[in-house]
Amino acid sequence: MTNATSIPSATPLLAHETAPVREAFNGRMYIGGTWTESADGLRFERRSPAHGHVVSTFPEATSADVEAAINAADAAFRRGPWPKLKGVERARVLLAVAEGIKARAEEMALLESLETGKPLSQARGEVTGCVDLWQYAASLARTTSGEAYDTLGEDMLGIVLRQPIGVVGLITPWNFPIWILSQKLPFALAAGCTCVVKPSELTSSTTVILMEILEQAGVPAGVVNVVTGKGPTVGQPLAEHPAIDMLSFTGSTRVGSLLGGLASKHLKKVALELGGKNPQIVFPDCDWDAMVDAVVFGVYFNAGECCNSGSRVLVHESIAERFTQAVVERARQVPVGDPLHPDCKIGAIVSENQLNEILGNIDKGVAAGARVRLGGKRYDAKGLFLEPTIIGDVKPEMGIARDEIFGPVLAIIAFADTQDAIDIANETAYGLSAAVWSSNIDTCLTVARGVDAGTVWVNTFLDGYPELPFGGFKASGVGRELGKQAVEDYTETKTVQLHIGARRNWWLPRPAA
Ligand code: NDP
Repeated sequence: MTNATSIPSATPLLAHETAPVREAFNGRMYIGGTWTESADGLRFERRSPAHGHVVSTFPEATSADVEAAINAADAAFRRGPWPKLKGVERARVLLAVAEGIKARAEEMALLESLETGKPLSQARGEVTGCVDLWQYAASLARTTSGEAYDTLGEDMLGIVLRQPIGVVGLITPWNFPIWILSQKLPFALAAGCTCVVKPSELTSSTTVILMEILEQAGVPAGVVNVVTGKGPTVGQPLAEHPAIDMLSFTGSTRVGSLLGGLASKHLKKVALELGGKNPQIVFPDCDWDAMVDAVVFGVYFNAGECCNSGSRVLVHESIAERFTQAVVERARQVPVGDPLHPDCKIGAIVSENQLNEILGNIDKGVAAGARVRLGGKRYDAKGLFLEPTIIGDVKPEMGIARDEIFGPVLAIIAFADTQDAIDIANETAYGLSAAVWSSNIDTCLTVARGVDAGTVWVNTFLDGYPELPFGGFKASGVGRELGKQAVEDYTETKTVQLHIGARRNWWLPRPAA
């Protein structure tokens, strides 16, 4: 374990609120428009990582259940009304879903907080933020279209249709369960696709509630199906089954690459949103206070269990020690503890496994010569709580500088000049996002152009808008979500060529009349 004797201690844990007394949420699967248990009647439970009590239970799907869900989605696509509806009709349903989310936001936020361990305030922001994603997808349902080419000569009109790709398998993780589903599902539905959804077994409640909302909003039977259970049994068939046309996955690079390989073998379209080791690059001429706040927010938001986490800071060597002290001081003010406490900013880690992975990564960093400057330990209390951690003296070649840790751990790395910063930023396998902090526009643009990242924030961090595409370079993924092409990603193009008038270019002489 980490020797933390001379390390400033992190903030004490917030006092536990009394967890609201409520019965465990009774999750069901939704297949072909019917609420159902698993074929063999087995169920599994999810306990709160902060409090230990059972929050929810779900059917553990069998292969037969997954097969039934895929068949229902396939039938709904081949025969159902959904792919043929007018864009405006699909848009109305998506807008009704947005209203349904608003109406049940508090119930969803509480379950999201209890299952993930994230602060209730952040769960509220996540759920209400989804409303905008569904509304944006509704706007695209009406405006996404193909193209017409009137430039091919007098006797030819070319039309490029955009048709829904078919049945889409959606596999989502535990860190932002309802948000990540809402980055995918409304856009697939706007395109006219049908879907099978597999949420993480740790956090399935809000996905099940969303299905209730979809049913009430008028999504026809079979268009969206939810199967709950384990990755290999429930998720893997979505990459392999012949009736699935596209797989959209968010999660670890390890599982994403496994599923991407399987899906490609079966010639399916794949969209992968994977991990990150996102650098915030700090120059001495930045707005200091704004930068320090954004560094602390960037690494501790969602307890660092965030693909976009600003988990490493590259700081100019001339200010490295001043920066470290400022960030340590600020990080010690971040309230940690019971996710239901109104002041909480860092809640519980999602699982014992995840917590041990994080501690193992800290230990490896220390063994490689890095120095813990804050935290580094589990809190000695009930619940899976980890101290906000800062690691200094990190060298770019260390694992702690390159590997995704997915916890509240910041690695600080010094750089010599702008090119050095860009080189270090690009020395990981990932390329999801990055930030640059400087008041010099040339510095900002040079870094923004030079880093391998799907998103670069300039003098800010973690802002996001449905209008802006999101996704990664390199091992951070394949494809983009959101943005105006979000619906197009769930379509195939079909070229239709219309000949006008008598055909003149006969291949053989025209037969005599
Ligand atoms: P996984 O990639 O294992 O889980 C993501 C989703 O994939 C879950 O729904 C999971 O189901 C499912 N899954 C797992 N194994 C398979 C499989 N063989 N076939 C099909 N589906 C599968 O992530 P973890 O939950 O294990 O987290 C591990 C690491 O992944 C984290 O430490 C972090 O580094 C990274 N991660 C990245 C995320 C991101 O946003 N990019 C999100 C979450 C994790 P189930 O949960 O039921 O096993």
